[in-house]
Parts: sequence; C-alpha cells; structure tokens
Amino acid sequence: MSEQIGICESCCKPILPGDKYSYSIDGCFFCEQHSGKLSDCIAQHQSCIDDNDEPWIDFGYDSREEMAQSITDMKTEIETTGDRSLAAAD
Ligand SMILES: [Zn+2]
Repeated sequence: MSEQIGICESCCKPILPGDKYSYSIDGCFFCEQHSGKLSDCIAQHQSCIDDNDEPWIDFGYDSREEMAQSITDMKTEIETTGDRSLAAAD
C-alpha cells in the first residue's frame, strides 16, 4: 500500500511515490506526461524577469539577478544536453 503524493492537474492521474512528477509554484502537481519542459520553465522565468510586478520570491530566488543567472544556467543545459521534462522522481 502506497501513499499518494498528489493528482495530476491535467489528467487526474494519481501520482505515487517513485513516479516522476513536477510541482508548480502555484501548488499543482503534474504527471510525467503533463509536466512542463525546461524550455517552458525558461519562458516562465523570462516573463517574470520582464514583468517586474511578478516577484521572483515566488520562484524561490532571493533576487532578480539570481533568477537571471538561473535562466542562463537552464539555457546552457539545453544547449549542452537538450530540452528535457521537468518531471523527476523523489
Ligand atoms: Zn497528467
């Protein structure tokens, strides 16, 4: 018997321990199939940087500069190893 971690916001599939999944900043779970990709994450970060009304604190960064650095790191990762799903197992 295993405890459910959450339910996919897109398809209502239960997410169980060991499954790959992602968790959005607004508190939604997504299964591996419906998780965003690294490129989606960059776009989301970039729109936050471009729109100063949306605080990077919500993403877990201390400053705008830290968030900008994270975008650079993600872009480097895509260039090096390619785009990937953000879903990961615990
Ligand atoms: Zn799903």
